[in-house]
Amino acid sequence: MQITRNSIDSATGPSEWFTGVVHVDTVATPAAASRLSASSVHFTPSARTAWHTHPNGQTIYVTEGIGRCQRRGGPIEVIRPGDRVFFEPGEHHWHGAAPNRFMTHLAMLDVDDDGNNATWGEHVTDEEYHAARAT
Ligand code: MN
Repeated sequence: MQITRNSIDSATGPSEWFTGVVHVDTVATPAAASRLSASSVHFTPSARTAWHTHPNGQTIYVTEGIGRCQRRGGPIEVIRPGDRVFFEPGEHHWHGAAPNRFMTHLAMLDVDDDGNNATWGEHVTDEEYHAARAT
């Protein structure tokens, strides 16, 4: 048993991977046989990930606020607390806050054999982000 106390500073989401201000709190770190990586990700209004994929897919579970997500070629979807989204392995997608709302989600995935959790691509442009019919 290992207890990690609530004493770790939130990390800032790196600008290569995010647009806008995002804070990340680690929930689970892969160790030994466990491949589970989980974090609580806090997006400020309009903040979002870049386009990316996950080698073994990813589940996000919205805990607060209102968010948006999109898979490549699909519509922008509005997501709310209690909603969960599974992104398929290798599926290009992004997720983030709505334009005028904060959003927090739990993000859960299994890393691959090399410990990788994601492959990152280009940023989601303002044009792509605002292509949503606002809800
Ligand atoms: Mn993702």
